[in-house]
Amino acid sequence: MFQGKVVLVTGAARGLGRAIAEAFAREKALLVLCDVRPEGLEVAKQLGALFVYANLAEPSHRERLVEQAVKQWGGVDVLINNAAIAPPGSVLKVSLEEWQRALEVNLTAPMHLSALAAREIAKRGGGAIVNIASVQGLFAEQNNAAYNASKGGLVNLTRSLALDLAPLNIRVNAVAPGAIATEAVLEAIQMSTHPELTRQDWEDLHALRRLGRPEEVAEAVLFLASEKASFITGAILPVDGGMTASFMMAGRPV
Ligand code: NAD
Repeated sequence: MFQGKVVLVTGAARGLGRAIAEAFAREKALLVLCDVRPEGLEVAKQLGALFVYANLAEPSHRERLVEQAVKQWGGVDVLINNAAIAPPGSVLKVSLEEWQRALEVNLTAPMHLSALAAREIAKRGGGAIVNIASVQGLFAEQNNAAYNASKGGLVNLTRSLALDLAPLNIRVNAVAPGAIATEAVLEAIQMSTHPELTRQDWEDLHALRRLGRPEEVAEAVLFLASEKASFITGAILPVDGGMTASFMMAGRPV
């Protein structure tokens, strides 16, 4: 489905980004992966991808990332804005520095990278961008102000990009995952970032009463990036096991 297409995935050293990169690799895409984690190099080697060390909080690193993609593979067809950070804290606790960094990595970087990539994608006649948002872009979680705000911004940025880039034949969509069993989430559960929530509670947030698997998000991303989604742009697709279908704990009968 993506043979010969150049796909750029941010934050691909582990978790969802890695699963997304693996899914595109199975479809024979030409991959460019970036991360601040050096493990990204090993992932890239395994997938025959180019690894670019890039700290997406730095505008010059974003520029270099797109330049490197063009240098390596001759252009860009698809951009997946996946990298994000989630500094915990309520509006009363989060420092201004943490707030600004979360907004920079989770919202400004996807905007800037989309603009940079769009110029390249347009040269090839069009393509797709998929943003990895979150159910927390659709509603808020207590003590997670910066993440909530950045993902809410990313949801509406997705719509803006869809409108602004449609004339260039670039479709832009987002997925909004529920709790997916990545290292980051499993660590958060184990380390009791939310001491009031047991693993069962996390599972019960979803109507399907389990955590999602990274591959389940990757499949949705692949679909939105593919020609199968040729009339879909500006859409936010929950991949959340029914979490947002309910205003209570979706999987727990009352
Ligand atoms: P993760 O922390 O494992 O992955 C994020 C990746 O981005 C990491 O490899 C990290 O090193 C990289 N990254 C962070 N800051 C960066 C920077 N400044 N420059 C470059 N790379 C940077 O988390 P994950 O669970 O795999 O989440 C991936 C995406 O999915 C994120 O956007 C997250 O918000 C979203 N998401 C995850 C879940 C979930 O349950 N796992 C749910 C909803 C949304």
